[in-house]
Amino acid sequence: MLVKVLGAAAGGAFPQWNCACTQCQRSRSGIFAGQPRTQAQVALTEDSVSWTLLNASPDIRVQIEATPRLWPDGGSLHSPIQSVVLTAAEADTVAGLLSLREFQPLDIYATPSVLRILREDNSLFGLLERVPRQAVWKEIDPNVEFSLGELRFKPFSLPGGFPAYIASDRRAQLEPEEAVLGLVIESPSGKMAYLPGAAKVEDSWRGWLEECDVILFDGTFWTDDELCRVRGGGGKKALEMGHLPISGPGGSLAALSGVRCRRKIFFHINNTNPILDESSPAYAEVLAAGWEVARDGMEIRI
Ligand SMILES: [Zn+2]
Repeated sequence: MLVKVLGAAAGGAFPQWNCACTQCQRSRSGIFAGQPRTQAQVALTEDSVSWTLLNASPDIRVQIEATPRLWPDGGSLHSPIQSVVLTAAEADTVAGLLSLREFQPLDIYATPSVLRILREDNSLFGLLERVPRQAVWKEIDPNVEFSLGELRFKPFSLPGGFPAYIASDRRAQLEPEEAVLGLVIESPSGKMAYLPGAAKVEDSWRGWLEECDVILFDGTFWTDDELCRVRGGGGKKALEMGHLPISGPGGSLAALSGVRCRRKIFFHINNTNPILDESSPAYAEVLAAGWEVARDGMEIRI
């Protein structure tokens, strides 16, 4: 399996268009010891011919153009991208679908609740169904495996609710366990865990995480109060937003410290997170603990 990280930042990217935090300012000025990053996006393939996207970020068009492996080849309309697996209905995970219209056939997998949000409540996504066999919507259920070619997907529920834009009457009709999914993706050559939004590490996860060759784990925030401090008290706490901070006694570094896995990679990194700064103590601490920090263009062979 070949995994391409097309974008490694959390929503808003790095730098974020309306953010004047120290890191965004320094990045714009060219004096930051770290790379800019687009919004979280992964593509993977088993045969290097047909590709699956994990979610569809608002940056997908520039991410595809930056990745020759994903360019069309021959004919008029063509794409190596055959399918999209959605793990939530957040703007950051679905907005890119609208950039993937242009009459391109795509299989789009999501839970029944996420499909209702997209297909029944948001008529704009009808742009994906203008001709027969354009978007083919496919239901996935937590804890029910499905296959895409030689890749096996095991979806499971993560804590976390539906996006804030969902009306309360609709919210009452949806299944809470269908709001946010994690994935274990298995190919003949190995396994990867995909957990870009995790509010905690369950004790029961350790067994199957150890069986994975690679973990892509929630690297949104370094501390729980990071956004509040940077925004002068205006932001939410990390845990309130469904993201376990990396540092501290209850953070993900500590919670996953004993997990033996070939590569542990922090992914979905907010622009305020000091692990983006390769001269920071936070970056050094993460590396010393055996973790990597995802960056745009990173290739992971499993
Ligand atoms: Zn910023």
